[in-house]
Amino acid sequence: MRTRLTPMFRQYFEVKNRYPDCILFFRLGDFYEMFFEDAEEASRILDIALTSREAGGGQRAPMCGVPVANAAPYIRRLIEAGKKVAICEQVEDPREARGLVRREVVRVITPGLFVDPEGLSDKESHYLCALRPGKRWGLAVLELSAGQFRAAIFEDRRELVNEVFRLEPRELLLPENAPEDLRRELREGLPGLAFTPLPAAAFSEARARELLSEHFGVEDPAGLGFAEIPEALSAVGAVLEYLLENEREALGRISPPRPYFPGDYLVLDEATKRNLELTRNQFDGSVRHSLLWVLDRTRTAMGGRTLRHWLLYPLKDIAAIRSRQEAITTLLEDATLREGLAGALSRIPDLERLATRCALRLAGPRDLVALREALAALPEVRDLLAGKEGLISEIRERLSDFSHLEERLRRTLLDEVPATAREGGLVRPGVHPELDELRDLKENALRYLAEIEERERRRTGIPNLKVGYNRVFGYYLEVTKSHLSRVPKDYIRKQTLTNAERFITPELKEFEARVLSADERIRELEYEIFLGLREAVSGEAERLRQAARALGELDALVSLAEVAEENRYVRPEVVPEPGIEIVEGRHPVLERVLPAGSFVPNTVRLDPEEARLVLITGPNMAGKSTVLRQTALIVLMAHTGAFVPAESARIGLCDRIFSRIGASDELSRGRSTFMVEMAECANILHNATERSLVILDEIGRGTSTYDGLAIAWAVAEYLHEKGALTLFATHYHELTELARELPAARNYNVAVKTWEDRIIFLYRLQPGPASESYGVQVAALAGLPREVVERAREILSALERKAAAEPPPRPPAGRDHPRQLSLFDPYLPLREKLLAVDPEELTPRQALNLIFELRDLLVKSGL
Ligand code: ADP
Ligand code: MG
Repeated sequence: MRTRLTPMFRQYFEVKNRYPDCILFFRLGDFYEMFFEDAEEASRILDIALTSREAGGGQRAPMCGVPVANAAPYIRRLIEAGKKVAICEQVEDPREARGLVRREVVRVITPGLFVDPEGLSDKESHYLCALRPGKRWGLAVLELSAGQFRAAIFEDRRELVNEVFRLEPRELLLPENAPEDLRRELREGLPGLAFTPLPAAAFSEARARELLSEHFGVEDPAGLGFAEIPEALSAVGAVLEYLLENEREALGRISPPRPYFPGDYLVLDEATKRNLELTRNQFDGSVRHSLLWVLDRTRTAMGGRTLRHWLLYPLKDIAAIRSRQEAITTLLEDATLREGLAGALSRIPDLERLATRCALRLAGPRDLVALREALAALPEVRDLLAGKEGLISEIRERLSDFSHLEERLRRTLLDEVPATAREGGLVRPGVHPELDELRDLKENALRYLAEIEERERRRTGIPNLKVGYNRVFGYYLEVTKSHLSRVPKDYIRKQTLTNAERFITPELKEFEARVLSADERIRELEYEIFLGLREAVSGEAERLRQAARALGELDALVSLAEVAEENRYVRPEVVPEPGIEIVEGRHPVLERVLPAGSFVPNTVRLDPEEARLVLITGPNMAGKSTVLRQTALIVLMAHTGAFVPAESARIGLCDRIFSRIGASDELSRGRSTFMVEMAECANILHNATERSLVILDEIGRGTSTYDGLAIAWAVAEYLHEKGALTLFATHYHELTELARELPAARNYNVAVKTWEDRIIFLYRLQPGPASESYGVQVAALAGLPREVVERAREILSALERKAAAEPPPRPPAGRDHPRQLSLFDPYLPLREKLLAVDPEELTPRQALNLIFELRDLLVKSGL
């Protein structure tokens, strides 16, 4: 069947066979056409009409198409639907082609190589990652739209997985033989992630060297810093190979890859990032009510991306933290400087992505105009920063001088330009002599046309004769029906309309040829001039990106200073020795959400010798989780160099922040929660050090009371022994006993007041365990019927009398020393089981089963 295809369809299949996994956009004139299965799929996704076309041998090919000039939104939708799109262009001029025009795929757009500004969010990075499993794991990270490229190694899989969760890439390249469960794990955390398997050979250090030397002029990657981390280099190789196949233009036109060292940053695992709501809330996944939402006042896209990056990569280097603090202090103290910068920054478009769009030859005239605006604002920023020290002066130095480029753009391009470069109307007069001449001719020609019209009217006596133009036969003279009798002999009839006829004359045709060639030549010249400009920018792309990144940092610093001033944050003292002291700290988000002045600040101290395990008890809704989270957020903010919501704070450098929220507190996720809870706990126990901050909120809830308490107890003991700084909020009142036995464990509770039958929440942390059980009051508050509340109160006091009368049961022996465990009622499970059944409802068989179960329980608990 294929042998009888038309030549065009033969060509189509030659191309399509090389890109079987892509939707092929096949250029035909002003359209990209899709055929066969591609057409069927795309017409469904894009909701466009499916037609068909003769494919040869009597068979018809299903077909649909989108206009080339407006293809971007369609491509965007296909990418969002998880497809890849291969763009196949005509690579020779149809007018010069003999036979069929040659066509080639010029780029493949994949989820990770997607750079359409309309489809990217300005303040978020959009990553493609390549992952090389092994004894050590290599990871390469490309942000194509910003031209950023970096790579790292990870000692084990968990670290690597954490990093992938932190980056939230759109697409992940991995070897075909990568473990299946790894994919599963990643997919679970990142449901939108596209996996692209590559042959294992693509992950090659040698190939990376070759491509780096060929396209980036890097003779030895050791010079870039990859000497000790070859695994990272082989991940880089896979990215380069992928670019070679899909986006050739990028090779050598993005920044060369740089190593980065995950050990330089605080480790934040996925659960912590999620629980602390750093960049998105857990309710609907948007930025609202996240930490970023409070801190982000950035004016530029670069600033937004930088600040987000800072929150996800808190520093571990005191000098670097302090230099950000210094810069914020400078900006805080100088309101004029801050306001001046805010004004200048708000006029700066996304320089980093604009420069990269030029380098990738994707930029249009309006991108160049936007870039010109960015450059025009630079001198003002530099002037404002003059005479400052430290980080600010470093940033100033990275803002190179681009006045020559700005000047050239200003001189060449009109103030306002059209969206596309092919139709002319971009270049100022006086830039190019030939262009000026042609434009002159065109303009005079218009006048000349008017003259012809006037002259012919006089000659023929037809008052409404007019000159017009159409695409089919060019310029014509139009005469209405009523005047046809006056048409002279030298007019040649071309077209008859209902009310008029159209004619041409030799004179008009000759004139037309001159004008039309001028038009075309003008378009050609303007396009060439545009390309020259774009290349000039492209040549500076790397320096432009450096400047853009410096602006991003500046913007982030200004933002942090503004937020600090407005919310009365203080500069935390960050010190090398472990320990945390936050005086009158506040929750940065909650204090903004609650009515002004209603948030109650709290003081938290964690000390390796005196109080490294702090247990917080109190009734539901008392504010336990809030204290925990605010502590973690303040510690994290301190490590980013930001100021913090407190009266004062002294924060010892941490290596990790862990947080685990008990299963039933985790509202938004429907995972097998207890298992997840325990897996995360295991991770904490394995990895926490005496430099880690651990936040445990109600762990052990996901299982029965007994189990849960036992686990919570053992976990707390273990962390105390390891020396991690731990805040542990719990509803297990029994755990408060720990403070009596462990030397550095302390009890705190969140104060409440009872008043009549009510609880008044004070939200104030105070030393000591919570004294009473408030469950019954909370139940009353929640509106349980009066009788039920009273009955519960009776039962409670009966239970309390019983507990007071009986001697505490013997504690089980710990590993080294016997431990005191009170309030453990060994018959509790039995009692719970029995009270849960209604004997009236039992079938004989169920009754028998129950007896077996109860007996089992007795045997298991050794009674
Ligand atoms: P718990 O974990 O003890 O059940 P939460 O920390 O979840 O309690 O707090 C419950 C609610 O109490 C919060 O949503 C908030 O509205 C309020 N709250 C908590 N802490 C404070 C505080 N320090 N000041 C004012 N309101 C608070
Ligand atoms: Mg809570």
